[in-house]
Amino acid sequence: TKFVHILGVPFIDTTRKDFIKKLQGRIEKQEKTFVVTANPEIVMHTLQDSEYKQILTKADYITADGIGIVKAAAIIGESLPERVSGYDMMMDLLELANEKRQRIFFLGASEKVLGETVRLVEEKYPGIQIAGHQNGFFDWSDPALPQSIKDSQPDLVFVALGFPRQEQWIGRHIDGFDKGVFIGIGGSFDVFSG
Ligand code: UDP
Repeated sequence: TKFVHILGVPFIDTTRKDFIKKLQGRIEKQEKTFVVTANPEIVMHTLQDSEYKQILTKADYITADGIGIVKAAAIIGESLPERVSGYDMMMDLLELANEKRQRIFFLGASEKVLGETVRLVEEKYPGIQIAGHQNGFFDWSDPALPQSIKDSQPDLVFVALGFPRQEQWIGRHIDGFDKGVFIGIGGSFDVFSG
């Protein structure tokens, strides 16, 4: 695996297709995985927030979220093949989870958006097993949520709390989970259900 460093952030050099394949391999082997999709705003934020930068060091993979990162790579004489965004990955992963009957936990967004997201997933992807769901406005100090996610044994956890909350939440809890691909996907539930 090759990485391209942009202002200290190591981006995985991969196409979306290859990256999804890699994630599927990790799901099959039950290898716990923390994925961050980083756009230019996130890269700039790491320069002024050392705590956030520290969280990113816990990520297994950071993908180029947006053409701005692909262009930045070219400017420094490196190359990244394409953007690998959270929404696109969510769509690919839903497709494969449907075929493989994988378990997904949905975390984040308003109750309305989350409810509509879960309803649409049940309708369009009947093979997916909904491990559970929780809206994004919960008490962070209550250990019940991470425990219930752990107990639900998800293959995938979509964390739609927006930046920087989703990375903070995953970073805080990842050590306590046994397995699962945890991916921060920003406002993707809003887009999917809208
Ligand atoms: N969100 C959430 N919990 C919060 C704040 C935001 O679940 O405490 C959700 C929000 O409802 C939306 C998503 O996170 O679905 C993205 O929010 P926002 O647009 O603020 O984040 P960004 O697009 O900047 O990542």
